[in-house]
Amino acid sequence: MRRVFVVMVFLMQEKNARYILPTVPDVVHPPVPDDVKVSPDMEYMMDDPDPEVTPGLFQGDMAMTNEIYNYWRVGIRWDVFPEKLWKNGTVPYYISPIYEPADQVTIMKAIHTLNFMTCIRFVPWNGKTKDYLLIWPIKYPKGCWSFVGKFGGAQIVSLQAPDATGPNCLGTEGRAIHELMHALGIFHEQSRWDRDKFVKVHLDNIIPQFKNNFDKQSLENTTYSFEYDYDSIMHYGKYFFSKGKGKPTITPKTPGVKTLGQRKALSKGDCLKLNDLYGCFDKPRLRRKYYFLCQFMGI
Ligand SMILES: [Zn+2]
Repeated sequence: MRRVFVVMVFLMQEKNARYILPTVPDVVHPPVPDDVKVSPDMEYMMDDPDPEVTPGLFQGDMAMTNEIYNYWRVGIRWDVFPEKLWKNGTVPYYISPIYEPADQVTIMKAIHTLNFMTCIRFVPWNGKTKDYLLIWPIKYPKGCWSFVGKFGGAQIVSLQAPDATGPNCLGTEGRAIHELMHALGIFHEQSRWDRDKFVKVHLDNIIPQFKNNFDKQSLENTTYSFEYDYDSIMHYGKYFFSKGKGKPTITPKTPGVKTLGQRKALSKGDCLKLNDLYGCFDKPRLRRKYYFLCQFMGI
């Protein structure tokens, strides 16, 4: 424990960082929509076992309150839910000290990537601000999950640490980036209203209780300024929630596109989406800077 703490001090050396431990119970039950349940043997049924798709949450890894869930059926809109947007693009965060040093480094890599490639600023929580991200390896439901947009108060982003079963959410910084993007207000790429032009969803291959995870957003409630992005860090893989081997749940329609989604880095499109959402393109100088960063650093 002592060793962990020393490294955390190193990681949080920013001025005025404080080390107040928030009260977080060992077991946290975030709100789960009634009609989404986890099958206990799901991991064995999946072709591509993935910690991101194991918790019994909306669309696999998004926690929703009933209130938001009802609205989400028609999509979250910033004009309807302005409070979901992090003000001034500033996102205070606190990383659980129970993570091993190597896992803290992985989380910090994700944060530094987003801070570098966008005008959004993740800043260490000062111990006072009401709203902040609490990055914590929640035990139930375990896995990689997040709320969508700002929720208010101490908002959990659950990132399960590596263990004997595998790297879980922190093999690389990719999954941490994915969950942080949900917390910033970004949905899965394949839930775009126009996705059927680009991908085919194979409903027969999806584990029945997870069919809702492949729902679309309605057009009136969302804007799509950028092309459909097969390479998005927010796109499902071909076998997410599959009934079994050789049964893809989602496949590309465009000839030449071989793979769907990845959990390595921001794609060009992810980078553009985030910068657009947070107004980073509003000023000509910033627009130039972040546009080029997306072009050169996005995969
Ligand atoms: Zn997700």
